[in-house]
Amino acid sequence: MDGFVRVPVREQDAKERAKNFKEVCLGYNKEEAESEATRCLNCPNPKCVAGCPVSIDIPGFIQKVKEGNVEEAYQVISKSSALPAVCGRVCPQESQCEGKCVRGIKGDPVSIGKLERYVADTAREMGIKPEGAKEKKGKKVAVIGSGPSGLTCAGDLAKMGYDVTIFEALHEAGGVLVYGIPEFRLPKDAVVKKEIENVKSLGVKLETDVVIGKSVTIDELMEKEGFEAVFIGSGAGLPRFMNIPGEQAMGVFSANEYLTRSNLMKAFDENSTTPIMKAKKCVVVGGGNVAMDAARTALRLGAEVHVVYRRGEEELPARKEEVHHAKEEGIVFDLLTNPVEIHADENGWVKSITCIRMELGEPDESGRRSPVEIPGSEFEIECDAVIMALGTSPNPLISSTTEGLEVNRRKCIVAEEANGQTSKKGVFAGGDAVTGAATVILAMGAGKAAAKGIDEYLSK
Ligand SMILES: Cc1cc2nc3c(=O)[nH]c(=O)nc-3n(C[C@H](O)[C@H](O)[C@H](O)COP(=O)(O)OP(=O)(O)OC[C@H]3O[C@@H](n4cnc5c(N)ncnc54)[C@H](O)[C@@H]3O)c2cc1C
Ligand code: SF4
Repeated sequence: MDGFVRVPVREQDAKERAKNFKEVCLGYNKEEAESEATRCLNCPNPKCVAGCPVSIDIPGFIQKVKEGNVEEAYQVISKSSALPAVCGRVCPQESQCEGKCVRGIKGDPVSIGKLERYVADTAREMGIKPEGAKEKKGKKVAVIGSGPSGLTCAGDLAKMGYDVTIFEALHEAGGVLVYGIPEFRLPKDAVVKKEIENVKSLGVKLETDVVIGKSVTIDELMEKEGFEAVFIGSGAGLPRFMNIPGEQAMGVFSANEYLTRSNLMKAFDENSTTPIMKAKKCVVVGGGNVAMDAARTALRLGAEVHVVYRRGEEELPARKEEVHHAKEEGIVFDLLTNPVEIHADENGWVKSITCIRMELGEPDESGRRSPVEIPGSEFEIECDAVIMALGTSPNPLISSTTEGLEVNRRKCIVAEEANGQTSKKGVFAGGDAVTGAATVILAMGAGKAAAKGIDEYLSK
């Protein structure tokens, strides 16, 4: 084997998968995984670990894969991560662990994500579970939200011996992992539910259909129900719109609504009672992972899809793999383009969208070059649906019903990065609710830090 080149991973054919919701990437088998694992140099000062927000012992688990010992490889990973089958599928490895791997200097970095996925999937098939706490502490902690931050915080606290209950507003646990990221990237029954069962197997209780701030408040949990600390991992589920003329037309959706219908309510399935619009030609506005997911969902539901993004290819914030897959499947990218108006027909349904061409100007405060309109370059795209994937903000319900909980001007909860401590005693927070829309692994990192913070607070 050429040590500079990674073992390729098998995928569903692009033409075939554009018509179904089955998982795109098929993952490594034993032989492929063990072969890829031999490319790891087992560096004494592994740069990859520094690139992982939850500090997985990457060379340690890869060494176990090399030896064919999946059970031990899984235990190494699960010391740091509660959701390895999820992370192996959706983490932006190219800018994290794999982005730092020394193998990447002269060739392909080691396929850390695909190896993590292999270990997690194989361990699941073998029925291997993470190790729980030996002793209980007899202290109750409430976790609000069952997304990656909440699940991680709950899992870590349970491993330390705390009595943890997760309160989830929706009828299913998982946060964005179940309502946002589509089945073709992250299977729900086979992967997400199984990882949540692993967290529950540590002793974590889960109460769904409980909206904190409506069903019960944080103060009531602490004063009346005996919870000595609370972690808020309520995410950032409030969609943004452009506020352009015509945005109220029928056929304009937020990506959140569109994806929730398809993923959580299974509207893509003919037998589902939840309706979803099957557009003929759909424009998706935005360039992040959410935009790619909405575009690829609309494509699978039968639409011709255009992604309209105001910056260029280099600036697309979505994972490279997702952009590559979207292009392979036939999605058209209208880059350096921005919508200015949506037009409706006489019945109020979308019939077209006017866009304007952009060019890149000076860098803004984020360091990225700002897009600037090219005067007179407007043009129209005929379409019957528009999906806005422009980012999300935290829902203000919890902050507005919890006295003494500080938020910033973007309505994100203010919390210390090192331990998740908020302005309110005994209340900790992390994930998208604090940072605004970010990534699964950053949310998990914040959940871990808060679990440590809660343990220190309750041990005093
Ligand atoms: C479509 C889409 C695709 C994405 N793709 C990727 C990707 O490929 N890679 C990646 O790393 N990241 C991706 N992300 C981002 C990533 O999913 C999030 O950053 C991550 O899920 C944040 O985790 P969290 O725990 O903070 O919040 P969430 O996952 O949002 O979970 C919050 C949970 O809290 C619950 N909740 C909210 N309010 C209350 C309340 N008042 N009471 C009780 N429960 C409440 C919600 O119902 C939800 O279940 C994507 C996001 C979206 C939307
Ligand atoms: S940096 Fe790359 S080669 Fe070195 S230990 Fe990490 S994965 Fe292995």
